[in-house]
Amino acid sequence: MSLKKWLTLSIALMVLGVLLAVVGYFGIGVLMAIGLVPLVVGLLVYYGMCRCPECGAPLGRSPGSHCKRCGRAYDWDKTPRSNSLF
Ligand SMILES: [Zn+2]
Repeated sequence: MSLKKWLTLSIALMVLGVLLAVVGYFGIGVLMAIGLVPLVVGLLVYYGMCRCPECGAPLGRSPGSHCKRCGRAYDWDKTPRSNSLF
């Protein structure tokens, strides 16, 4: 799976988790706890899989277009380097 797809997946999971938590906070309380699951999984996917395809460095909070470690431009269609969690 490409870096772009991993990033999209992690952001979608985190947004879903936050939405569930907000709905849970203002209404159905159990959704707040359920929302923690996609939020945590999204964070794990982000920090585990959203890495530079060349050197494996994590993207960090504001990745930009080039890797801060190796300086190469991110190839968003490439698979992240394999020294990751999954
Ligand atoms: Zn790099």
